[in-house]
Amino acid sequence: MTRIGIAVALSIAWAVPTDAQQLLERDDPVAQYVEPFQVFDNLHYVGIEWVSAWILETSEGLILFDSLYGPFIEGLLKIIESAGFDPMDIKYILVSHAHSDHVGGAKAVQDLTGARIGMVEGDWQMLEADAKAGRLRHDAIPRDLVIQDGDVVQLGDTSITCYATPGHTPGVLSMAFTVYDNGTPHQAFSFGGVGLNFSGVARTEMYIESVKRLQAMQGIEVSIPNHASMGRVFERNENLKSRKPGEAYAFVDPEGFSAWLDDLMVNVEKKLEEETEKAGR
Ligand SMILES: [Zn+2]
Repeated sequence: MTRIGIAVALSIAWAVPTDAQQLLERDDPVAQYVEPFQVFDNLHYVGIEWVSAWILETSEGLILFDSLYGPFIEGLLKIIESAGFDPMDIKYILVSHAHSDHVGGAKAVQDLTGARIGMVEGDWQMLEADAKAGRLRHDAIPRDLVIQDGDVVQLGDTSITCYATPGHTPGVLSMAFTVYDNGTPHQAFSFGGVGLNFSGVARTEMYIESVKRLQAMQGIEVSIPNHASMGRVFERNENLKSRKPGEAYAFVDPEGFSAWLDDLMVNVEKKLEEETEKAGR
């Protein structure tokens, strides 16, 4: 449990690099390369060290979760190919939130494949505001699929229930879907905005409400994070390699998920105190 807390703290540090060296390494495709791997029958990791991207396979094509950015876009397409897929089969790019590390590659993938880009309203607005203010670190992305809380994205035999869970950004797409371990279904969930690198009492309160919503959800067994470190993805994958027949599956960890949410809540309650104090000055 403590370990999960540390992982979150680390990835927050990565999201806001403090020195040039860290920045360089973060944007270096060689240092960041991760060989793609399969975690469930229908789910593959195709991200890099510090940011995740996932391919969800359906009977009618592929759904890409997040799109990496800049120096990694070309590599992303190659990684998807080396995982055994044709990038042209991507039908949806579902973007967890409008920060460039997740959305930066979406337009390029769309231009190549014609896939729809789905994001929550608040994040489309954020992208548009950033474009207007000249703050975009990637090509402008014309508004495409606006996902509302409760929407279901359906592709072939697969449906994804979408939630707007704002806080980290004004939108934040979280998703519930089914993954299969040798045919056995498990309920998976991806929380789309975890880091506390935002400011203001109102946004902090939004984040708290979002985590409360997640805590109230029943039956989530698998956490699919948008930064691998936030769900110990690589560690679980190592464990998977040495899995014996019949042994419990490292990625199926309902207790780990709820403990992680509890940790997030402790951290954000602390942040609320700080933000409230700041606002009072
Ligand atoms: Zn972010």
